[in-house]
Amino acid sequence: MSGKTEVHVGVQMGPKQAEVRTGFLPEIGPDEVLLKMEICNICTEDYQRWLGLREFETPMADGHEMVGIIVEKGRNVIDAYQIGDRVGKLNAHCGACDDCRVGHSSDCKYEVRTGIGLEEYHGIKCFANYKILQQRMLVKVSKDIPATHAAFLEPLATVIHGIKKLRVRPLENIVVIGAGPLGILLAQVAKLYGARVIISELVPKKLERARSLGVSAVIDASRANPVAEVKRLTDGDGADAVIFAVGNSFAYKQGFDMLKHLNGRLLFFPAGFPKPTMDFDPNTLHYRKIEFIGTINGDNADFIDASKMLSTGLIDVSKSLEGKTFPLRDFAKALDAAATPNTYRISVDLQGI
Ligand SMILES: [Zn+2]
Ligand SMILES: [Zn+2]
Repeated sequence: MSGKTEVHVGVQMGPKQAEVRTGFLPEIGPDEVLLKMEICNICTEDYQRWLGLREFETPMADGHEMVGIIVEKGRNVIDAYQIGDRVGKLNAHCGACDDCRVGHSSDCKYEVRTGIGLEEYHGIKCFANYKILQQRMLVKVSKDIPATHAAFLEPLATVIHGIKKLRVRPLENIVVIGAGPLGILLAQVAKLYGARVIISELVPKKLERARSLGVSAVIDASRANPVAEVKRLTDGDGADAVIFAVGNSFAYKQGFDMLKHLNGRLLFFPAGFPKPTMDFDPNTLHYRKIEFIGTINGDNADFIDASKMLSTGLIDVSKSLEGKTFPLRDFAKALDAAATPNTYRISVDLQGI
């Protein structure tokens, strides 16, 4: 295959407006590969645009939770990447600044466009049947797992980044509040790092998922007081750390109250919409030596760890999937399904154009 590649791409034009357009990708450069795309899962930001909760530039051709197969490679592409390999992509980073060079690629402040071609569209252009990527953006992912699972490379990397920032140690009591798609991953990775994991959730469907993970305990917050339950489950000590996998004021209050007396840690994983509030006494942080830890995105090393976790099967990402896959031609229907409350990840099959 050489010359221009015809591509079908999912485009968002505004709230509840999405369609599939046709365009052309340029020829690949010497350091680039052409991917035949397999799957892109729909992330929260994609469906928040659909719902009108998030402002965005149009026309927007986005998506980032993708995997594809290398079908063509430029002459400078190293032997590590071969035609037929399955790859996902790193988050955008320049690779040249000091943060990137010391390994903190998620701290990179330089905007670099990673959606090569289709210049008329904003976004990363991953809801498309073909995509061009620079070799420095590639992460190989096992072909022995379903593509819908392999597409968890990026969300899993952000989860690993958060768990590393939280400094989870074996045998710690870690509470995860919220068992949505990312809460399910956070609980599994914390467990993999050796923690005794307790999940607190109140939606029946999510409670069922949480119970299927084999964590130490699952608290039904619609029936029991999670603060009292955590104290009971930890012999009165409280949690070593609490992970907020939902962003709301009520969860923040509960998480704060269930921490152990000294040296407790709180990990703020997602942003909350509408913007939550948190009421606490700063003197308490001082006397009780409490740590607030924020996290967003993942470094390149976290993506490589995520790829290994996926291929070893140590993490079961199927628990974060709704189990519904839409062909690209039904892009609008897929966004609508993803925007339905309490839905796990929805997949878009990029070969079903
Ligand atoms: Zn995402
Ligand atoms: Zn950089």
